[in-house]
Amino acid sequence: MKAAPFEYFRASSLDEAVEALGTPDARVLAGGQSLVPLLNLRQARPSLVVDINRVDELSFLREENGRLEIGALTRHRFAETSAVVRSEVPLLAEALGYVGHVAIRNRGTIGGSLAHADPAAELPAVMVALDAGFTVHGPDGERIVAARDFFLGPHRTALAPGELLTRISVPPHRGGWAVEELSRRSRDLALVAVFVTVTMSGDVCESARIAVAGAGPTPIRPLTAEKSLAGGPLTDDAIALAAELVATETDPPGDLHAPAGYRREMAAVLTRRAITRAKESA
Ligand SMILES: Cc1cc2nc3c(=O)[nH]c(=O)nc-3n(C[C@H](O)[C@H](O)[C@H](O)COP(=O)(O)OP(=O)(O)OC[C@H]3O[C@@H](n4cnc5c(N)ncnc54)[C@H](O)[C@@H]3O)c2cc1C
Repeated sequence: MKAAPFEYFRASSLDEAVEALGTPDARVLAGGQSLVPLLNLRQARPSLVVDINRVDELSFLREENGRLEIGALTRHRFAETSAVVRSEVPLLAEALGYVGHVAIRNRGTIGGSLAHADPAAELPAVMVALDAGFTVHGPDGERIVAARDFFLGPHRTALAPGELLTRISVPPHRGGWAVEELSRRSRDLALVAVFVTVTMSGDVCESARIAVAGAGPTPIRPLTAEKSLAGGPLTDDAIALAAELVATETDPPGDLHAPAGYRREMAAVLTRRAITRAKESA
């Protein structure tokens, strides 16, 4: 199928993009790895496509005030191979390697993956695990939204009409981390994926953060499981308990790819593996 007719505007600055997005039913085009298929399937029928690929001010990756600041237009592959990302937020670097294939990651952008808000996608869950903050720009200026408040449902975010995601601010994490993902074929969207960070003090887990993709309408942050790990050693029993708690805190969909019960069970299995690996890497 071919896309339904739409107007096209190539913005050369953030101001131009925001102004164009004031048009009713306008849609941002970043890497196009999700939007173009949606257009061709006529599941998206925007009146205007606002291409931000020449908005250079949205393409950056730097350390600032001890945090990693990422422009929304930064390509997946650029971030994945960045020495700063690998040393400051290795969980993000590892997770990026699970997003589609290299050809997809060469074009796809960090902001596009977040704005697309696929419940099975890696990056929304990673940003929720890392307590990232998102800057969005709209006709009334700029505001900051915490990652945990950004994802409202499948493909639904806190972006208001006319708003654009511009910057992702990520606190560093240099403790232990792990990604565990189950998909039907290598690098397909996840059936379930689990992202874990742990901060250890000797044998004691000071804090743990867990996020699960593919197990609910938005990324799940199982706080009860996290709390059960904090303040004690990561014994096999502690890890098994946390994994069971994760399963109870998920709300997975059942569909033709996998029934809900299977996803819930896999969330527990992957959590157990991820915490064990995170502990080893700490
Ligand atoms: C074969 C294949 C495999 C894939 N595998 C995976 C996978 O394993 N994991 C995964 O997460 N994804 C996967 N995807 C989906 C895709 O890679 C990502 O969703 C995509 O890269 C999103 O980024 P983009 O820059 O291409 O966004 P686009 O396709 O350009 O846009 C996606 C959506 O976000 C909006 N948008 C984009 N940028 C902004 C912004 N700055 N502000 C506001 N709105 C914005 C667009 O309007 C659109 O609604 C796959 C895609 C393909 C084709």
